[in-house]
Amino acid sequence: MPTLLAIHAHPDDESSKGAATVAQYAAAGVRCVLVTATGGEVGDVLNPAMDRPEVRDRLAVIRREELMTAAAIIGYADVVMLGYRDSGMPDTEANRHPDAFVNAAEDEALERIVAIVRKEQPDVVLGYDDNNRYRHPDHVRVHQLATAAFEAAADPDRFPGAGPPWPAAKLYAPIFSVRRIRALHAAMEARGLDSPFAERLERIGDATDDGRVVTSIEVGATLGRGREALRAHATQVDPNGYWFKVPLEVALEAYPYEDFELLGARVPVHHPESDLFAGI
Ligand SMILES: [Zn+2]
Repeated sequence: MPTLLAIHAHPDDESSKGAATVAQYAAAGVRCVLVTATGGEVGDVLNPAMDRPEVRDRLAVIRREELMTAAAIIGYADVVMLGYRDSGMPDTEANRHPDAFVNAAEDEALERIVAIVRKEQPDVVLGYDDNNRYRHPDHVRVHQLATAAFEAAADPDRFPGAGPPWPAAKLYAPIFSVRRIRALHAAMEARGLDSPFAERLERIGDATDDGRVVTSIEVGATLGRGREALRAHATQVDPNGYWFKVPLEVALEAYPYEDFELLGARVPVHHPESDLFAGI
């Protein structure tokens, strides 16, 4: 059975990065497995309607329930929580917590992910790119570990106790491409709507996606489901906030795609691709 393994840092990342694509593959019969490294214990309650003491006290439990609901909406067949603690934003107290994901011994975390890759035998692995725009320490860690696990899982000399070697065919990172930001921004402006990307575009300047290999997956049929999954993270996601500023019908018209950067491949790749499983 074709298998996709997605590695994410916090509950909600699986719904904000590539969710519509995973939903589409899951609906088509691909076995999709989610690995979430932390419990999202440190993230703020970003939805004013949920910022109540009884929610704050049970945040780890609630975030786990939200994650399971979102994963079911997307169509994940299995969810593995690695159980590390959210490391918090850069240069905060939470970075120093002994259970924080950033403080886990590199080989210990890597061996656990390698064991999952070898057990699930995915064709496609999703990790993170080396984007320094959003330097959350847990995201940087997922980038490092997913990239290292893609190599180590295939290497019989690494972690021989973690199962027989498995060479996954491709490693991708879901990205928010420059062309997507420009297309959505232009569509909002053209309709006289308030674009959430104005500030970001100023930072981006005249940058392009050149220099990285970007695959766009058409997800018109499941873009709405991705948003529904994101909404299931009620404590983290304000239903009137950033993620929902672009109306679904505008997104569907202007840019019904999700974009992925290719980070590794063991099969020949012919660009442009329209399928993460192309060549497998
Ligand atoms: Zn995150």
